[in-house]
Amino acid sequence: TTDLKEAKGFKGHDMLAPFTAGWQSSDLHPLVIEKSEGSYVYDSNGRKYLDSLAGLWCTALGGSEPRLVAAATAQLNTLPFYHSFWNRTTKPSLDLAKELLESFTANKMAKAFFTNSGSEANDTQVKLVWYYNNALGRPDKKKFIARSKSYHGSTLISASLSGLPALHHKFDLPAPFVLHTDCPHYWRYHLEGETEEEFSTRLANNLEELILKEGPETVAAFIAEPVMGAGGVILPPATYFEKIQAVVKKYDILFIADEVICAFGRLGSMYGCDKYNIKPDLVSLAKALSSAYAPIGAVLVSPKVSDVIYSQSNKLGTFSHGFTYSGHPVSCAVAIEALKIYKERNIVEKVRNIAPRFQDGIKAFSDSPIIGEIRGTGLILGTEFADNKSPNDPFPSEWGVGAYFGAQCEKHGMLVRVAGDNIMMSPPFIITPEEVDELITIYGKALKETEERVKE
Ligand code: PLP
Repeated sequence: TTDLKEAKGFKGHDMLAPFTAGWQSSDLHPLVIEKSEGSYVYDSNGRKYLDSLAGLWCTALGGSEPRLVAAATAQLNTLPFYHSFWNRTTKPSLDLAKELLESFTANKMAKAFFTNSGSEANDTQVKLVWYYNNALGRPDKKKFIARSKSYHGSTLISASLSGLPALHHKFDLPAPFVLHTDCPHYWRYHLEGETEEEFSTRLANNLEELILKEGPETVAAFIAEPVMGAGGVILPPATYFEKIQAVVKKYDILFIADEVICAFGRLGSMYGCDKYNIKPDLVSLAKALSSAYAPIGAVLVSPKVSDVIYSQSNKLGTFSHGFTYSGHPVSCAVAIEALKIYKERNIVEKVRNIAPRFQDGIKAFSDSPIIGEIRGTGLILGTEFADNKSPNDPFPSEWGVGAYFGAQCEKHGMLVRVAGDNIMMSPPFIITPEEVDELITIYGKALKETEERVKE
């Protein structure tokens, strides 16, 4: 898959493959991954790769944690399945809910609702918020505000919430009740001379203007990733969430934290909300919740919302929503074990300790003439290529600079996420110092080769 002799210009590599998953056919020449071990995966030819994205930002405990396998096996042997409809449930799903509610301390959470993915969690958020406002007798308070470049999933509604145009056009999205406000990317969007704090103030003012224009009585919720992942690893600028939360609160708009990537240690804190002092009304979880060994997502619901739903005076009846596999006992058993391991191994502290080696090691390449910005925190990092180091001078997309860099990494034995000229990395939490050094070495080699190619 890295036959660069075939490359035309900077193209010719299937890393330029578009955002799509699910299609399977051998004539698409996919890279077939057959085995995983710690921070590494192996392809069908036995080639070994350092998995710098932890699958898709998710295999937090790496690819061969025997305790997760044992937890799944034990559950499969006891009760491989039972559903959670009509007030029936299973012990693993009850236990997991308890664990999650206790672990989230940024704001009190009262109930957990289980799904199979992050997309389903965010779809569930929309239904919950609508139900909540209906129960409060304000059915017109329906609109959602998300942010440009956010990623919240691929179903019709979660894709609508996402602020990535590729997920919208062709599909007649976003849905009419979804609005998008500014992406908080300081490097790209700040005005000349504007400090981070001033930039945050301007964005909060823009949000308030949008709410006033739409009518606060029509705006139900604001959704945000603490650190934007798929949009290019975009960190909130100083004072951003403080100012945004003040606006949202002023107009009685619910705050939804999409923690699908950020939760469980990725940012060097248990949750992204802890790191940025976010007090959400609702939280979406998935990915590292089970370290991706079994599919599961969850919504955490604050008492503010759940009290309305479960109030005696609520005349709406049941919140009619749920999936066959909501709270699947095997996924829940795996997630319980993952949370136990995070706790026992002080995984948050471990991430915090290794983060400087990773962040400083990669940020040391910031002077490269083809790099516009390197940004990250904890074990998440994005690199954006740009000509003249300027956000206003992207390389021509047909050069495929990002794809070329990705292909060089692959050639040297590392998988990275390429999205145009953005490169993203989020290694497993268990990555060792030696593996971080290897990651940096490969990054450096690939960067040098890409710089040379750009000069040609
Ligand atoms: N929310 C965020 C922040 C994500 O990064 C993702 C997936 O990458 C999702 C939601 C969607 O999750 P899933 O792919 O499990 O549906």
